[in-house]
Amino acid sequence: MEQKPQIQWFPGHMAKTRRKITENLSLVDAVAEVVDARIPVSSRNPELSALIAAKPRLVVLNKADMADAAATRRWCAHFRAAGYAVMTADCKTGAGVQKCVPLLHELLADKLAAKREKGMKNPTVRLMVVGIPNVGKSSFINKLTGGKAKVEDRPGVTRSKQWVPVDPTLELLDTPGILWPKFDDPEVGKRLAFTGAVKDDVLDIEELACYLMDYLAAHYADTLTERYKIEVEPGDTGCELLEKAGRKRGFLMRGAQVDTERMARILLDEFRAGKLGRFTLETAPTEEVTP
Ligand code: GDP
Repeated sequence: MEQKPQIQWFPGHMAKTRRKITENLSLVDAVAEVVDARIPVSSRNPELSALIAAKPRLVVLNKADMADAAATRRWCAHFRAAGYAVMTADCKTGAGVQKCVPLLHELLADKLAAKREKGMKNPTVRLMVVGIPNVGKSSFINKLTGGKAKVEDRPGVTRSKQWVPVDPTLELLDTPGILWPKFDDPEVGKRLAFTGAVKDDVLDIEELACYLMDYLAAHYADTLTERYKIEVEPGDTGCELLEKAGRKRGFLMRGAQVDTERMARILLDEFRAGKLGRFTLETAPTEEVTP
């Protein structure tokens, strides 16, 4: 995966971002919140709801190509039940992005009708994209506008706002609102690291790989057996499995000790590159799913 410079979030920086987003929000009719379909909770910013208040929202479950399809369906139902318009997308290829315009027309039907009633012949609605770093905001804007937008997503870079037409009734702000991820819960930090949303040096790479092994053993044991040719036995810890996989691959150091650090990097790289398959690391609350 392409490595981008990581943003360091400091309180002053967060306050500035918050101000900027609030300022841009006053100019738009709706917000598209891009999240990573593999971690639909951890890749959200909990402050967003307070920031955007009652503004209509479209949740974009992006990177759906890397997520477990059944889990994604449950997450769609969950977000729909919460009152949002929802779509899935793969912004690497653009698959699913075409659903955005009809969904926004539906979401903003009243607003467009009211504008027409006021006598506006060709009313337009305006949209901005928000999300934490690396969820695919720029890719989404690029696909949605067919490459017409010059996306500038470095925070702090000031430049005049550009409104890019998506269709005759819809304009998109080319600058996404970049929000910070929330790290208070160590589990959230781990999931953000598994998916590559935060730099590896935030956490110890071996420790991280052990956690990932643990999760995969509990939920997708067959995948581990298939990919790394190891038996997952009851009671095996993530670290033991990492060692088994490293031994199987022949990553040995002096004294026949397994080079678990090398194996850790490989596991994380392969997981992030989708070589192990499609995974969702968070489960949607089932009680809110309508059959
Ligand atoms: P931003 O920081 O939110 O603007 O994220 P980017 O649009 O720069 O995307 C971050 C990384 O994720 C890039 O390497 C993209 O190619 C990749 N990416 C974005 N959307 C998708 C997607 O739907 N599927 C996959 N597999 N990769 C994606």
